[in-house]
Amino acid sequence: MNSNQWFEKAKMYIPGGVNSPVRAFKDVGGTPIYFKTASGSIIQTEDNVELIDFCNSFGPTILGHSHPEIVEIIHQTAKNGTTYGANHAKEAQFAELICAQIPDMDMIRFVNSGTEAVMTALRLSRGYTKKNKIIKFAGGFHGHPDSTLIKAGSSLLSGGQASSAGISKKLASEVFIANYNNIDSVKNIFDRFGDDIACVIVEPVAGNMGLIRPEKKFLEELRIITNKYSSLLIFDEVINGFRLGPTTYGTICGVKPDITTFGKIIGGGLPIGAIGGIKSVMEYLAPIGPVYQSGTLCGNPMAISAGMKTLEILISSSPYEKMDEYGKKISSEINNASEKKGLNFHIAQLGSMFTPFFKKEPIKNLADAKSCNHQKYAQFFHHMIKKGFYLPPSGYEVCFISAAHNEKQIDKFIDAVLTF
Ligand code: PLP
Repeated sequence: MNSNQWFEKAKMYIPGGVNSPVRAFKDVGGTPIYFKTASGSIIQTEDNVELIDFCNSFGPTILGHSHPEIVEIIHQTAKNGTTYGANHAKEAQFAELICAQIPDMDMIRFVNSGTEAVMTALRLSRGYTKKNKIIKFAGGFHGHPDSTLIKAGSSLLSGGQASSAGISKKLASEVFIANYNNIDSVKNIFDRFGDDIACVIVEPVAGNMGLIRPEKKFLEELRIITNKYSSLLIFDEVINGFRLGPTTYGTICGVKPDITTFGKIIGGGLPIGAIGGIKSVMEYLAPIGPVYQSGTLCGNPMAISAGMKTLEILISSSPYEKMDEYGKKISSEINNASEKKGLNFHIAQLGSMFTPFFKKEPIKNLADAKSCNHQKYAQFFHHMIKKGFYLPPSGYEVCFISAAHNEKQIDKFIDAVLTF
């Protein structure tokens, strides 16, 4: 059966035919592609087409698909039991390894997804500070805990509105939506509600309205204002963590959050999430502290082994420079050509993350990202498939370079973009 046929069948048994909405291709149109195999930088579809993958499962496969050492460790681990629902040695080893890479992170708790990590981080900050309100940013995505599926209300100070059905109005009213890269919008909310703000949650490098870098001092100022009001600062590094170096973006940029959330890369392609922070905050979690969290599969041996192997390889082989070089090549060559031709297009890039934006001007926040030509992105997405590349099926996502990409593929990619 081809992708089309699988999609028709899936729609009979799975709502919308998919297990995560972006996979339905609503933003780009056309039939969702069904993957058959993936190895290195190449995926093969149920239509027997080979594509060079720049989506990379939205981030986890930083070493490429089916890295032999990851596959081997998963096999070895599975032979000794796929889950115990009990403690095992590797959990402590992996926690030690991650904390060693991140100064000021004393402890970490493993969960099963980025969503779970964020849900726990928000509950922990409310429990720790004994405050209720949360500030998040327009266009910031943190998975699907109720408290994060909130969009801006009628004004900055009115509290948010649920962006999904099924979320209580009261909860939405306790989440305030500031604008990314705009510290004044944060200050205004603190001026009015400062005594009841439990936390500010932010993706330090935004990756869910396309790639947007934090402007100079934005993160530092978030640290200052959260300290001033004794609120916690949460860096959601589900994408960023171990993406731009063998550590967090907080460590790279020198701003220390109270809590960091992880997912994606630290699971080596298996389901995982984690929250980390200083001891006094982390020990607020059960069983020592009053904030409850649990999970049958938390610390799953296969996910822990795959994640630990991934981090060990990232630390020992350090592919970051090469990936950064490829990222810079993509953005500089395409942006130069685009400028010369006067196109309404540019590539935003940081290390191995990049986003093609159909707008000339730099993108600094959600309003900018929305003002790009997303219909053009849809056409571009299908053009790139014809040229042999798989990109994220939405102009609000990030493309990821992996350690498995090579220079020839990067050159081919640049050529393909320039023929659009
Ligand atoms: N936080 C960020 C920044 C994310 O990009 C995502 C997912 O893309 C999440 C949280 C949720 O992670 P998961 O999909 O593992 O639940």
